[in-house]
Amino acid sequence: MGAPVAKTAQSGKTPRSVEEHRAVVAALLQPSPVEDVPLAELRGRVLAADLVAPMSLPSFPNSAMDGYAVRAAELAGASPESPVELPVAEDIPAGRVDVPPLAPGTVHRIMTGATVPEGADAVVQVEFTDGGAERVRIFRAPAAGTHVRTVGEDVHAGDVLLRAGTELRAPQIGLAAAVGAATLPVRRRPVVLVLSTGSELVEPGTPLQPGQIYESNGPMLAAAVEEAGGQAELLRFVPDDVDELLSTLRKRIEQSGVDLVLTSGGVSAGAYEVVKDAFTDRGVEFVRVAMQPGGPQGAGRVTELGEVPVVTLPGNPVSSQVSFEVFVRPALRAALGHPHPDRPIVNAKLGQSFVSPEGKRQFRRGVLDAVRGTVAEVGSPASHLLGSLAVAECFIIVPEAATELPEGSPVEVWLLDG
Ligand code: AMP
Ligand code: MG
Repeated sequence: MGAPVAKTAQSGKTPRSVEEHRAVVAALLQPSPVEDVPLAELRGRVLAADLVAPMSLPSFPNSAMDGYAVRAAELAGASPESPVELPVAEDIPAGRVDVPPLAPGTVHRIMTGATVPEGADAVVQVEFTDGGAERVRIFRAPAAGTHVRTVGEDVHAGDVLLRAGTELRAPQIGLAAAVGAATLPVRRRPVVLVLSTGSELVEPGTPLQPGQIYESNGPMLAAAVEEAGGQAELLRFVPDDVDELLSTLRKRIEQSGVDLVLTSGGVSAGAYEVVKDAFTDRGVEFVRVAMQPGGPQGAGRVTELGEVPVVTLPGNPVSSQVSFEVFVRPALRAALGHPHPDRPIVNAKLGQSFVSPEGKRQFRRGVLDAVRGTVAEVGSPASHLLGSLAVAECFIIVPEAATELPEGSPVEVWLLDG
């Protein structure tokens, strides 16, 4: 057990901090405009304004049971040994709109959800009667109010039911429908183009030549965009060719309606860095961020492409996905109006010891043992290990200042399914 061991020196040119680059990426996206969307298309969308109840629920007193609407006082002392027998004056199925009042000395047969008649103050469920249709024998004395759902018991007209920023899932959509809303105002999903680069890339489902690999960042990032609430458009990947990269983007961006371009690959220190070559001096700043994986990053607005915002992610699949999580997902969710754009963070104890490079925040892939409160690494910090990324439940955050973390050290953990 022990606190992180402090690092002593920074080497070389000071890289950009994670927070600084997060701010640069976040500034590329404005809050999305608001649109009214029908209930059937609301799942996962983010409410843009408080939903105020236009009506109460229930809106009329109704029965919680199939049985008989009664005056409780008339059944005092009813029991299996001495049942009370009364005439059944009316039949009230759910949906009946002309429900007559209950005359003294009578009952109405009533179904669940049907209007409790004026004059009745309780419902006796059918199981405590002989079920009669003309006359009924009742074996139990109900207290006043039994099985009557009262007006406003669930929701009061004028109450704020859902706050702006709420992510709409099944119960929230059900509630909106129940108070009669056919549409809700939500923030438009930002349209995000996803474009991978690399002459080694081949479409999954087609044969590979030696030296080629399947293109995985594109489908992965497109899915990540959708999971974050954006609308992904996966473009056909391009080889390491500046003209092809620019013309592919130009063709789509000319049609307008693009909020963000995400590229992957071609931003590090090699000889064929197509994204760097295409966007340097065209509005995109390329930096090293003090993190691992995901050091090489770029962001900006491409002057030649109508100032479209671009985030250039590194090519290694784990770097790409981690960078998306750290920079792009929170920016997209903030644009959508999420009050908490980040992943939930919990504290855990390291189930093993770590060594960590000086001056870099590591996002290591982990699995949690929730019972013991520990977290263990899957795979290693290497940025090509897609197999371990795919089974990880969380990122283990190793601060910049830590070079050695003994087993049992407290660490922050980002939960990836929250
Ligand atoms: P780069 O950043 O382009 O130098 O790529 C770094 C590493 O990531 C190389 O091993 C690439 O082959 C790999 N890589 C880059 N883009 C992709 C992609 N779209 N799908 C899978 N691997 C990729
Ligand atoms: Mg490449």
